[in-house]
Amino acid sequence: MSDRVTLKIKRIVDEGPSAASLYFDSDMKVLPGQFVMLTDYEEGERPFSVADADGSGICLTIKRMGPFSKRICSKKAGDLISLRGPFGNPFTLVSGVSLLVGGGAGIAPLYLLARGLIASGNRVIVVNGARTQDALLLGAWFGRLDADYRETAEDTGEKLSSVQLAARILEREKVGCVYAAGPELMMAALKDILPDIPYQFSFERYMKCGVGVCGSCACDPSGIRVCVEGPVFGREQIEKLSDFGVYKRDSTGARVPFRK
Ligand SMILES: Cc1cc2nc3c(=O)[nH]c(=O)nc-3n(C[C@H](O)[C@H](O)[C@H](O)COP(=O)(O)OP(=O)(O)OC[C@H]3O[C@@H](n4cnc5c(N)ncnc54)[C@H](O)[C@@H]3O)c2cc1C
Repeated sequence: MSDRVTLKIKRIVDEGPSAASLYFDSDMKVLPGQFVMLTDYEEGERPFSVADADGSGICLTIKRMGPFSKRICSKKAGDLISLRGPFGNPFTLVSGVSLLVGGGAGIAPLYLLARGLIASGNRVIVVNGARTQDALLLGAWFGRLDADYRETAEDTGEKLSSVQLAARILEREKVGCVYAAGPELMMAALKDILPDIPYQFSFERYMKCGVGVCGSCACDPSGIRVCVEGPVFGREQIEKLSDFGVYKRDSTGARVPFRK
């Protein structure tokens, strides 16, 4: 399904102070890692990963960032939202022990992935990281899964980043594939500590059309588009990128360096 649909918000649940989950009745068939383009017709359209889908409903988890996401998070049940999708290249499920590493709202697409991996009989270890404890999202969702779930906040306890916690786990576990979603600098740091194993990262770059026409989300040097060939890229694709963790493009196409 990739036509536009206008749906009533069935339920909206605050996920702490930093985000909200929006639930819709929908028979949209979604694979882990795919996203939808969302608008309320007030200003523009934004891509959001599908956090959960079961054939009769979908859920999006949206972090309150700028005016767009704050406005969407302040909607009420019964309000109308328009969606296009699902779009993009999903995660590929690899058999064996899986390590899922999420940062901030990047944890959203990893929930549907975790469900898929567990349903296929794989052991799943999840690292959910955020800068602050109150920005950790979806812990209760993962807690209900048969997964080895760990969370870390950089302002609490050992103050580990998700990459530092992932490094500890990789020392002890024979992981077959690492999946990650979150800030690109987090994924770049994760790539640097990974042993010689497969990995798949979900990218967030500026998107306008979501269907590969405008080129806004094209990566250098090959021009592979986050909205069509991504948002999930595998190791072979990521190793050929010259802009990964270095810069992204803004709405005008200008390069914006990632700030460490
Ligand atoms: C494939 C994909 C999946 C995503 N999934 C989620 C998700 O599940 N949950 C979530 O909270 N966020 C997700 N995002 C980010 C989301 O699309 C918005 O960028 C974010 O909500 C900020 O919107 P804003 O306009 O409120 O904030 P602003 O303050 O206006 O922008 C904050 C940041 O978002 C970037 N941004 C603004 N517009 C776009 C756009 N059209 N495309 C991409 N980035 C943009 C800006 O460049 C800036 O870096 C995803 C992005 C992509 C590309």
